[in-house]
Amino acid sequence: MKSAIVSSLVWLLAAFALGSPAACAEGWKAGAAKTIITPDKLMWMSGYGARNKPAEGKLIDLWAKAIVLEDPQGKRAALITLDLVGIHRDMSKIVRDSLEDKYGLSYAQVAIATSHTHCGPVVGHNLMAMYALDETQRKLVEEYATGLEKKLVALVGEAIGRLAPATLAWGNGQATFAVNRRNNKEPEVPKLREQGRLVGPVDYDVPVLSVRDGEGKIAAVVFGYACHATVMGFYQWSGDYPGFAQLALEEAHPDAVALFWAGCGADQNPLPRQKVELSQEYGRQLAAAVDRTLTGGMRPIEGKLTAAYAEIDLPFERLPTQAELEQQAASSNKFEAQRAKMLLDKIAAGKPLRPNYPYPVQTWRLGDELLFVTLGGEVVVDYALRLKAELGRERTWVAGYTNDVMAYIPSRRVLAEGGYEGGGAMVYYGLPTIWAPEVEELIVREVRKQVGP
Ligand SMILES: [Zn+2]
Repeated sequence: MKSAIVSSLVWLLAAFALGSPAACAEGWKAGAAKTIITPDKLMWMSGYGARNKPAEGKLIDLWAKAIVLEDPQGKRAALITLDLVGIHRDMSKIVRDSLEDKYGLSYAQVAIATSHTHCGPVVGHNLMAMYALDETQRKLVEEYATGLEKKLVALVGEAIGRLAPATLAWGNGQATFAVNRRNNKEPEVPKLREQGRLVGPVDYDVPVLSVRDGEGKIAAVVFGYACHATVMGFYQWSGDYPGFAQLALEEAHPDAVALFWAGCGADQNPLPRQKVELSQEYGRQLAAAVDRTLTGGMRPIEGKLTAAYAEIDLPFERLPTQAELEQQAASSNKFEAQRAKMLLDKIAAGKPLRPNYPYPVQTWRLGDELLFVTLGGEVVVDYALRLKAELGRERTWVAGYTNDVMAYIPSRRVLAEGGYEGGGAMVYYGLPTIWAPEVEELIVREVRKQVGP
């Protein structure tokens, strides 16, 4: 008996010393951290071209949050979520390059997601053709961007420092306040909703990833929803409905970090809107959907992490000629004129217009149970519906607004229909023209290539 105990002790010690399967079969680890990113100066706000003055105060704080997941083999993935309108490729690259240098995280292993709140600051070069900033404001934007880059790198370091054994699970809830804004007239929405006559594709899913500590307590919860964070368009800092949803969840689970990840809601609005109480109400509805999922049946995640990332050349339609740009620069539409001047300046500086854009497509597989697809830009709902149908709704989570928010990303249908999401919005992002018809196929093909058959 005694020798049996000794020999099993020896075996255990050997197992730890060698890092054998017995020692690392513990499972997943996770660590989360958060920090306030509300600007400390009253700078220009993002999301609406019609704003004519800087912010005037704060409704609720804006947050950056990070969660690092580590699979049983020690492979990591870091998700950063931001209560911000978007992130430009330049800033995203600076942050991801630093994370690679400092923590050995490749582009495949890092996702920087934004909530698309329209009550946050201008973020670096994101949406630059939308604003006419004076020197003072330009400086504030630069300062904020530099400070944010440093904060995000430190935040991931903090989350890594908190890595601890965790159990992961995922499930889907439902929330119904998103309305297809292309297919329903805003003033008619309350009546249409009451009569059950809202039309157009929507994605009501509320995907939820739960992270529980060794005692089964919620340590972090990641959730998403496919809908613009545009309840308010006023002059107060606010995370809009995703901000309120995160607050409600952190109140209900005091030691937990709640992270919001925007889905493919480029053609969806929270309606009705324009009342602070509605931001709070939609936040409550979303938090309630998350809580119902947490207490309902969630699927435990085992297995290992695989992460893939690629930038594909997403083609534009025919580029404008120099003469066409010069004509646009004299346009009475100030946004069109601003964009044309920006592009002409680029050409004059020896940087000809590119016929395509390096578009980021990323996938994370967590065991066989969960497949994250993260796409750049403002992605319309058709992508989420299609990818979930093709890859399996029971395992697929599709997010937009991640790693680089360079434009709206219409489906073939929306591109053909035109309108704001189909092409009109390109001007605010400073891109030369609309996308070519094949963009949907190219994006879906890359996702399928990454996830395999
Ligand atoms: Zn938008």
